[in-house]
Amino acid sequence: MKRLALTFAIFALTGAGLTVIVAWTCETFAGESLEISYEQPSDPLLMPGLHEPPEGWDVRTWVEIEGFGVRAAWISEMPWMGSRLGMIEGSKNRMEMTTHSGWPMRCMTRRAYWNTTTSKQYPDSVWHTGFESPWQGLMAGGYRGTHLPARPMPLRFAFNTAFWGVIAWFVLLGPGVLKRYRRQRRGACITCGYELAGMATCPECGTPAAARTMTG
Ligand SMILES: [Zn+2]
Repeated sequence: MKRLALTFAIFALTGAGLTVIVAWTCETFAGESLEISYEQPSDPLLMPGLHEPPEGWDVRTWVEIEGFGVRAAWISEMPWMGSRLGMIEGSKNRMEMTTHSGWPMRCMTRRAYWNTTTSKQYPDSVWHTGFESPWQGLMAGGYRGTHLPARPMPLRFAFNTAFWGVIAWFVLLGPGVLKRYRRQRRGACITCGYELAGMATCPECGTPAAARTMTG
């Protein structure tokens, strides 16, 4: 029982670690396609609030950014001009960017908003805005900036942790389990593979014969 709990804990940790690495990999290498909208787009499935404007903003432009394992949105008071957002004299020029990344679920997030006239980011914490990528040169997403997320989205993060934990389990322990299963099926010793021919104990290594359920 204790061993089972330990195995579970190890694979949960491995799954969580892989979940973070995959999310950062998506943030780093994903290319992106843009969709510009002048009305609030509907939120994608499982992504509530992605396009919700902050309280009191006079939003002119929504920019939807999508790449492999990444979904991001800009919400801005600035109009889209050419291939970027442009400031207008006398307006507030605020912008918010939310990024969700990870695979199979987008499970880590970062969000920042700033007034382009001061260029200071809010909220000013790693938890919200993420941190400067240590591999700036590799960051492929031109519109998402060069931060990596630090904040997990609980349910989606748990899903990915289970997903990658199970994969890690299959990769690391699967072959051994399969080998023992095959040996048991053909009536051989599960430890050393010796042909048991119905004996109760393996004469080679002393392992008791497993119950033979698949063969008669
Ligand atoms: Zn044996």
